[in-house]
Amino acid sequence: MHEMGITKNIVSIVAEHAKTQKVKRVQLEIGKLSAVMPDALQFCFDVVAKGTVLEGATLEIIEVVGRAKCRACGAEVELHQIVTACTCGSRDLERLSGEELNIKEMELEAA
Ligand SMILES: [Zn+2]
Repeated sequence: MHEMGITKNIVSIVAEHAKTQKVKRVQLEIGKLSAVMPDALQFCFDVVAKGTVLEGATLEIIEVVGRAKCRACGAEVELHQIVTACTCGSRDLERLSGEELNIKEMELEAA
């Protein structure tokens, strides 16, 4: 489960920014093609956050649809899974987005 490593990274980045303040909410943006399971991430978050300033924080996950450009006809295609074909039948797609994993927002408890 590679979500554990990802979660540890996220928690340490947020904890570094928060310093000693308690974190109330963390919002993540995850590309649908990043192969990260939101459920697994939520589970790992609860485990990793324990004992840190993130303990008890709400984890919000926004899934971002992948986009690609077809090299054959130039159309933009929405990617909901890794392997997709353009409406023109071509599978020669240039991946534009969908693999991101960003910390979009974090909310700290008022001191
Ligand atoms: Zn096409």
